[in-house]
Amino acid sequence: MQETVYSGIFYYLGEFRELEVLVRDGRIERVGMDIRGFPVKRLPGAVLPAGTDIHVHFRDPGETEKEDFETGSLSAIYGGTTTVFDMPNNAVPVDNYEVFREKLARVRGRSYADFGLYTMFTGSNEEVISRETSGIKVFMGGSTNSVVVPEIDERKARALDSFNVPVAFHAEDQGCLAAHQVEARDTREYNRSRPLECEVAAGKAVDSLKIRKRVVAHMTYPYLSAESSVVREVTPHHLLLHDSMGLGPLGKVNPPLRDKPTVEANLEAYLRGYYTVLSSDHAPHTQEDKEEFEYARAGIVGVETRIPLMLALVKKKVLDMKVLIETACSNPAEVMGIRKGRIDVGYYADFMCVDLNSMRRVNEERLHSKNPWTPFNGFDAVFPETVIMRGQTVLDRYEAIEEPLGEFVRDLK
Ligand SMILES: [Zn+2]
Repeated sequence: MQETVYSGIFYYLGEFRELEVLVRDGRIERVGMDIRGFPVKRLPGAVLPAGTDIHVHFRDPGETEKEDFETGSLSAIYGGTTTVFDMPNNAVPVDNYEVFREKLARVRGRSYADFGLYTMFTGSNEEVISRETSGIKVFMGGSTNSVVVPEIDERKARALDSFNVPVAFHAEDQGCLAAHQVEARDTREYNRSRPLECEVAAGKAVDSLKIRKRVVAHMTYPYLSAESSVVREVTPHHLLLHDSMGLGPLGKVNPPLRDKPTVEANLEAYLRGYYTVLSSDHAPHTQEDKEEFEYARAGIVGVETRIPLMLALVKKKVLDMKVLIETACSNPAEVMGIRKGRIDVGYYADFMCVDLNSMRRVNEERLHSKNPWTPFNGFDAVFPETVIMRGQTVLDRYEAIEEPLGEFVRDLK
């Protein structure tokens, strides 16, 4: 049995307080002051719950020239994220329990962060979806390696709901996309070729489905009611980048970057707490994949910069720390049903220690993805100094340890 008392300035119940936190076997057992009889470790800076990212594409297996689970998950740790959920659109899509089992066996023991895996819904594979799946992904509109399911009827909705795991929808209406399709040479044309109306049509259809845990992925505008029970997901790139920034192929992503007023409205909605979760939609491609806009593959890396970019906004007093922690840490963990994302009794001791006075700039050459080229290069960011995952220090003075200690989330009960 391993017991440690961590002392430091913790984010606890919505505010920062000098506290002691007793951690036993990776979980928080007590929170208070003057906890005696155990070894004490002082944590630097402000101690926040570490992040959970429910939307990453680590490309492993099948496209490991783009990313693999080691580089992707290491990147996560450097960005303060200790749990990731990997999407199923691999080169061979994860759409049945055999492929799922093979992927799990391959990834186990190689991940630096705790991880879950999604399965892809193909419209008729509910009988062969693994019961161990962490979530289900439905592509209503086409994207990388996806099988498109344009419509979810009642039978399909019932089947999806029966798994009782989050069902994440890539919400772009396929008919609408087909009607607008043109060859796009830059981000503005790309925005016109996959307009917001396609997203709204699909997202509203998802909103009305009888599926308890439904997630509308990467929304680019707050078009759903804030009263809806749907999980509303947003990415940093749809909050901070617009289609007139001249980003070229690096800015090609699905759904596209929108125009400036739309992005500003989206950011404003995020800042006021409209969104449930902030995910990276980390989607790396090789440099060759990103050469010419017309033929470039869609996707932006972001698992390492998701939280650091937002911490810079907190430092600048643009973003409330509470909104960041809820959307990047507490809510995503709760959506996925894991005991993380809060510093409280019974939760896993997953912390990140940050010094808000150590603002840096994103330097893509120092990120840990296999293809770290990012439109956020040069943006202000605050990277965590120390990261702790289930009571184990996995990042110490800005350096990750070399042991992949990540576990499959189902093994963590
Ligand atoms: Zn995605």
